[in-house]
Amino acid sequence: MSWGVTGEGQAKIPSVPECLFCRIVSGGVPASQVLESPRTLSFRDISPQAPTHVLVIPKDHYPDLAALAAADGSLLTELVNQVDEVAKAEGISGSGYRVVFNTGADAGQAVPHVHAHVLGGRGLGWPPG
Ligand code: AMP
Ligand code: ZN
Repeated sequence: MSWGVTGEGQAKIPSVPECLFCRIVSGGVPASQVLESPRTLSFRDISPQAPTHVLVIPKDHYPDLAALAAADGSLLTELVNQVDEVAKAEGISGSGYRVVFNTGADAGQAVPHVHAHVLGGRGLGWPPG
């Protein structure tokens, strides 16, 4: 398993037993679910950085955004549509929000299962830290 490696050539892996977010998908680790679509799951970040801080993930395991984009564009589209649905459900689609895909070491990606952070509910500084 090549954890944290970015780019193409990262084959889809339905589930990785030691992956925290795969375990959330399987129900082995509890999470506060917000929404679900056939191939994605949305749940609240355990350490929220804004009034709304939701993670949107594909149920299948891809280590990062590049791997997902290279492997399955339709799933990437479904994931982005879920981001939009989360923003609407959380009431932040009008006020604005930020979508972050931390990728690799410099971005501080801690969980090697691609996830979109959806942050909103307050003014967000720019540039990010
Ligand atoms: P990243 O640094 O982009 O990999 O983000 C990983 C995110 O997962 C962090 O914001 C964590 O707070 C969050 N996180 C870690 N464990 C859990 C958990 N059990 N449930 C929900 N979010 C979590
Ligand atoms: Zn995973």
